[in-house]
Order: sequence, then structure tokens, then C-alpha cells
Amino acid sequence: MFKQWIEESQNIVFFGGAGVSTESNIPDFRSDNGLYKKQYKYPAEIMLSHSFYQANPQDFFEFYFNQMIYEDAKPNQAHLALAKLEEMGKLKAVITQNIDGLHQKAGSKVVYELHGSVLRNYCTKCHHFYNLKEIIQYRDKQGIPRCPKCGSIIKPDVVLYEEGLDNTTVYRAVDAISKADLLIIGGTSLAVYPAAGLIEYFRGKHLVLINKDVTPMDKKADLVIHDSIGKVLGDII
Ligand code: ZN
Repeated sequence: MFKQWIEESQNIVFFGGAGVSTESNIPDFRSDNGLYKKQYKYPAEIMLSHSFYQANPQDFFEFYFNQMIYEDAKPNQAHLALAKLEEMGKLKAVITQNIDGLHQKAGSKVVYELHGSVLRNYCTKCHHFYNLKEIIQYRDKQGIPRCPKCGSIIKPDVVLYEEGLDNTTVYRAVDAISKADLLIIGGTSLAVYPAAGLIEYFRGKHLVLINKDVTPMDKKADLVIHDSIGKVLGDII
């Protein structure tokens, strides 16, 4: 059934969450595995908040570099299958809550990153952009990344707790979902904002949900698959 829907569809949109990245061995920092609690004084939600970043940049960057950056992570079957669907002209957009840039690494071109990307970093004063390689040196020096041009702090282009999402990105994501004929949601519990809200804009034919665990949206979907997203998409595409 799913395979047939993909064959028939001309405007597929994929909406993905942390589960897509965990299959590339990037841990879901929202899941409570106790890791952070052992190593750090505060929970991840505090250390990744805007106020913590402002008040304790040194601690913020130590946590950020050690827990949020996975330079060697490789795209998995899910990323590759979605890139292939885009290349075939069927998939029009990937909307992701992940910040690792793995969809682009797999070859996807239209990717709306709701929470930003660790691959982009910008000077908070002169707004010059830096890539990950340019700021990763500060991890080894255990320092705060500073702009070589003006000396101001460099901030990852990642949406921290207490910060709002980028309006343009949200607008484009809504637009893509509202035009889709097949919406595939994968690797997200859909419990956190804005995932659940964005899906309300879908008016297409089929909504497919792929997630290892049960989600609150299961009843709304036309097809629910409780399995590995990489396995499901890799097998079918
Ligand atoms: Zn600067």
C-alpha cells in the first residue's frame, strides 16, 4: 500500500524528528537517558537555553561541543531514500527538527530545518557566517568561539530553548505541507511543538506515520508503521 502511494504521488513531503538521526548514532537529547545528568550540573533543556548561553557561554559551549556535535555521523537509509525520492522529482521538501545536516549530506536539496543547523554559525555582531570546521577548534581549546573579524561571540545557528523558530522556515514548511499529496512523518513522537500544529495544514490524500513507538497522531494517519525509519524507507525506495 505504502509503495503504491509513493508511486502515485507527485508531491511528497517528509517531516522528520530525532528518530531519523538516532539511526545515524546521534542521540536524542530530549530522551531522558541519564547521560547528561551524570556529567553535567543541569539538564540539557537548561544548558541549551538562551538565558544559559548568555549567562554561562563557557559552560554552554562545553556542553554544546561535547553533546551536540557529531562530525563523523553519516546519513542512514532514511536520509538516502529521501534524497533519492527528491532526485526522482517526487519529493518536494524535507522538514526536519534535527540540526545535524545529514539530509543535505545525503544529497537532499530542499530541507527546512526548523531548529537550525550546527553546520552554520554566525557572529552575533557583524553577522559573518562560519562553518563547523571554523568553530570546532574552540572545542579543543575549551574556549568560546569568537569572530576573527570583530572579536564578538559566534553563536551556532541553532534554535535554543526560549528562542522562537525562524518565521521564513516555518512559512515554507507550512506551504510545503499544505501542497503535499502524501505526507510521511517519521522518527518523531509528535508530542513537541511545532510538529503537531504543522501537520494540521495537510490536506492531501495520504498521511503515513513511521515511528518505533506509538504516537498521539496514530489515529489520524492513514497508515502507521511501528518500525525503524531507515529500514522502512530503505526497503521501499
Ligand atoms: Zn564579527
